[in-house]
Amino acid sequence: MRLPCHVQAMLVSNRESRSMQFHLNGFRAGDPAIALPREAAPVLVDAVRAVDVLIVGCGPAGLTLAAQLAHFPEITTAIVEQKAGPLMIGQADGIACRSVEMFEAFGFSERVLKEAYWVNETAFWNPDSARPEFIVRSRRIQDTEDDLSEMPHVILNQARVHDFFLELMANSPTRLAPEYSRRLLGLDIAVGEDVESTSGYPVTARLARLDDAQPGAVETLKARYVVGCDGARSSVREALGGVLHGDSANQAWGVMDVLAVSDFPDLRLKTVVHSATQGNVLIIPREGGYMVRMYIELDKLDAHERIASRKLDAAHLIAAAQRILHPYTLDVRQVAWWSVYEIGQRLCDRFDSASSMRGQAPHPRGFIVGDACHTHSPKAGQGMNVSMGDSFNLGWKLAAVLLGRCAPEVLLSYSDERRAVAQELIDFDREFARMFSARPAQAASTDHETVEPAAFQQYFIKHGRFTAGTAVHYAPSPITAASAHQALARDLTVGMRFHSAPVIRVADARPLQLGHVMKADGRWRLVLFADGAAPDATHSAMHALCAYLHDSAHSPVRLYTPTAADIDAVIDVRAVYQQAHRDIALEHLPALLLPHKGRLGLCDYEKVFCVDHKRGHDIFALRGIDRRQGCMVVVRPDQYVAQVLPLHAHGE
Ligand code: FAD
Repeated sequence: MRLPCHVQAMLVSNRESRSMQFHLNGFRAGDPAIALPREAAPVLVDAVRAVDVLIVGCGPAGLTLAAQLAHFPEITTAIVEQKAGPLMIGQADGIACRSVEMFEAFGFSERVLKEAYWVNETAFWNPDSARPEFIVRSRRIQDTEDDLSEMPHVILNQARVHDFFLELMANSPTRLAPEYSRRLLGLDIAVGEDVESTSGYPVTARLARLDDAQPGAVETLKARYVVGCDGARSSVREALGGVLHGDSANQAWGVMDVLAVSDFPDLRLKTVVHSATQGNVLIIPREGGYMVRMYIELDKLDAHERIASRKLDAAHLIAAAQRILHPYTLDVRQVAWWSVYEIGQRLCDRFDSASSMRGQAPHPRGFIVGDACHTHSPKAGQGMNVSMGDSFNLGWKLAAVLLGRCAPEVLLSYSDERRAVAQELIDFDREFARMFSARPAQAASTDHETVEPAAFQQYFIKHGRFTAGTAVHYAPSPITAASAHQALARDLTVGMRFHSAPVIRVADARPLQLGHVMKADGRWRLVLFADGAAPDATHSAMHALCAYLHDSAHSPVRLYTPTAADIDAVIDVRAVYQQAHRDIALEHLPALLLPHKGRLGLCDYEKVFCVDHKRGHDIFALRGIDRRQGCMVVVRPDQYVAQVLPLHAHGE
């Protein structure tokens, strides 16, 4: 039996999922996932607490950013949230393949995969042409195409994703924890000459304490940067002068997580049901094997009408679902969570404070992320995913600037790159929502737009890469090159995420996914795909490049490595050979690939990989790498390919 690609890949990645390096600076007992705490006294500016980054909001956007920044012991972060504690139930649940790849970089993908529902297939139901008042299954398709990602599309409660990020933060060197029961009241960002007087902390935030300990108290906090991860009604956006443009929220939706008994056969498949006259429902099976989420399209709202005025409750949602699923029955035994809400497609002009700086500052100090800068319908399951992607894009840039590794101008690329992604999402969502809401053509409705079921299904399939999060393609910029040498690695597209593939780690013959060595640690990566020469041939292009990177004072690896730091502290070099692992003699490989590191000068044996000949996984063939010339692939800290270069392009 042929297993789907992501299942094959998981068999490989499960074996390596616990692969991590520790003891570099000496033996330490206990859980290696818990970092040694950083000891640092709080910074005070004019007797006010000051941090490098203030994050407002503990949704998926805020927590992704906080987890990324928490990795760096040198960076101080505060994350504030108006709620009294962590999210427990409800909200988003769809996790795209690309997000699971990102979770792997943060080190908790295997926990998500174990707990989640895996979306392997999607079913479509439409009115029966003979009896349109009944629904019938019209099609069943594979949910994501083969080799789109080594990770599957899964479903898991947003609250659990929050839990994993919170645990990661708690175990990080900074032991970062949210400050709950604090609502942002106001924000000032000094610009121009005023910045001089802020000691480098131009952001001043006022926060209301909402807890019983200090009711009514207002706290002040200073920061170098502020990031609004505060959702669709963002106060940070307002303070930055940003406005969401787009359609008003005039479509009412209901969502419920239910435990139910039904004779509908596809309750454990992701299913789109279009009835002839009763509307439509999207069924999302949930983790745990029993619970099901249903998204039910409710009425159009009048202009300026708020959904609260309709006084809808769970009973309305259940009745609507029962009508749509006719002739099948739905006996709801428990409603775990339900909500009704309004949806519009809206987007902010810029995702940073650049437009409000009016040329008075060289780079932005304020940012908005996630729902604060784009809102859309939940049907394509993009809200949480795109929000986390925004943060993954911004996090490494903020860290790089704060650590002095990048000029602050790099921060401008956040809005440029992510707004383009959000614009695509809004365009996609508008069309998807229109087709979703249209009545099936065979219903021959006169008062509703209609769509051929096949056309809707085709649209769904065509945009599978987009909804999986793997279609994001950043334009050329100072951090993403034009693709002059793309032919050397045809399927590692410059501007797109590094598409992982299976390899063997040479030193211990371990099969793993190459992409999984790229952790959320803020480092750039140089992946060197070897030319056709023997690994020990000292005249090869691979050897010459490694010698240059290791020895030349002008090599980027040397230039950007802080004094006394490990050689891979900023740029992590990895090599992939074409030969089988038993034919590669480690002792004859370039010194760069076996660097000595840490307090004890230990050798890092985990830089060298090769083709997995035994299982027939040839990364050179899978990703279109030129076997004769090889190439080097430059990968950004957020796993996007920044450049493909020939091995001899030392200067470039
Ligand atoms: P959010 O998750 O909205 O997080 C923002 C956080 O900021 C919140 O915790 C909020 O309390 C906090 N905050 C706001 N203002 C302040 C302030 N002034 N001071 C301090 N903290 C503040 N998506 C789906 O795909 N499916 C769904 O069924 C679904 N249901 C949803 C139901 C609800 C009630 C909500 C709010 C959203 C829902 N979404 C759903 C959307 C999805 O949850 C979001 O797309 C996703 O959470 C966006 O993440 P975010 O971090 O940008 O914003």
